Amino acid sequence: MDAVASAALTERKPVRLPGRADAPRRVTILGSTGSIGRNTIDLLEREQGRYTVEALTAQSNVGRLADQAIRLGANLAVIGDPSRYEALKTALAGSDVEAAAGAEALIEAAARPADWVMAGIVGAAGLAPTLAAVRRGAIVALANKECLVCAGDLMLAEVEKNGATLLPVDSEHNAIYQVFDFERHETVERIILTASGGPFREADPATLADVTPEQAVAHPNWNMGAKISVDSATMMNKGLEMIEAYHLFPIAPGCIEVLVHPQSVVHSLVAYIDGSVLAQLGTPDMRTPIAHTLAWPDRIASPSPKLDLAALATLTFEEPDPERFPALRLAHEALERGGAAPIILNAANEVAVHGFLERRVGFLDITRIVERCLERMDHVAVDSLEDVHAIDQEARQVAEAIS
Ligand code: NAD
Ligand code: MG
Repeated sequence: MDAVASAALTERKPVRLPGRADAPRRVTILGSTGSIGRNTIDLLEREQGRYTVEALTAQSNVGRLADQAIRLGANLAVIGDPSRYEALKTALAGSDVEAAAGAEALIEAAARPADWVMAGIVGAAGLAPTLAAVRRGAIVALANKECLVCAGDLMLAEVEKNGATLLPVDSEHNAIYQVFDFERHETVERIILTASGGPFREADPATLADVTPEQAVAHPNWNMGAKISVDSATMMNKGLEMIEAYHLFPIAPGCIEVLVHPQSVVHSLVAYIDGSVLAQLGTPDMRTPIAHTLAWPDRIASPSPKLDLAALATLTFEEPDPERFPALRLAHEALERGGAAPIILNAANEVAVHGFLERRVGFLDITRIVERCLERMDHVAVDSLEDVHAIDQEARQVAEAIS
């Protein structure tokens, strides 16, 4: 089947739904202490009076969470690790911020009334809280790509059922969102996700086995959390993003391409059947896509450095190297196969990356572990969130065993 025909055959509906634009917007940030969370707070602090903060959540960094909550006048601060509840209460003493802890409290925070929720938790751990925000019909700014990879169909069904609005924060998907014609999606021939190629795009392949966590997280263009930085180094990040794109946009898997673009200025492109190719450009600074979602459908100023194309002078593009980056093939196969495969891919990758960051797993073993998990596990049907959870847990055990 050619690309145009397969794109036209997808019957999945566009996800753009009407949202509210009343100011001040009440916001909640899931994962406020992380890279995405801190960039979001930086924007909020520049827009005093336009936003109020309902809840902030973090997993373990009590000091930073309490400081953010007091500074922003949040109603609630939640720490995921229940053993840190007393420390959080102490840190918030004398303020009006309510404290809570534990996995259930994270879900309750996400379900509190807020117009806009940043889904900024890393990994499949973000699925339950993000779903809680979706079920309340919020505008959900989605940074947590893993939850779409594991449960995209189920999430999208909940978005539609509850009248929620999903706005992609991931820079590539945010770019596509801005130039994708949802009303005439059959006129889209393909989407092209750009990838920086990470720190090892040109490294001698013989040296990759000895890569250290410090080398892997040193991304050439973006300053991000450790897990996504390692994913960028293996290019599993782009693999996860292909699956993310499949769920966010009405497009067939065969119409999603990856193009290496080391400068990270063209954030992604949409090619139409008439030959037009539309792209969104900007400097590599997450405050631009976050600002787009925070003010949507309006716009606010962002402190991101301005794009100066004349100073850059040259933008380059190349095909990804499938030998160097097997993660792209694994993710593409998982997307085509569907069902349990993306859940296994994601869970095994989370375990392997964690092992790599703890120096128990070699850099090249990350994708080997993912591949072996995909081969070893039965690919059972996925009909419910319970199924997603069970497959995720089993894949984690299998990946741990072979790590
Ligand atoms: P990070 O590691 O910097 O921050 C993660 C946040 O999640 C922290 O606040 C942490 O406390 C919280 N967290 C971690 N484990 C948790 C758990 N088990 N339960 C609850 N909370 C937990 O990560 P990040 O770079 O900000 O990335 C967050 C998400 O956004 C990821 O899914 C990533 O792929 C995506 N994303 C990030 C960037 C970026 O520039 N950082 C860009 C695109 C997409
Ligand atoms: Mg991205």
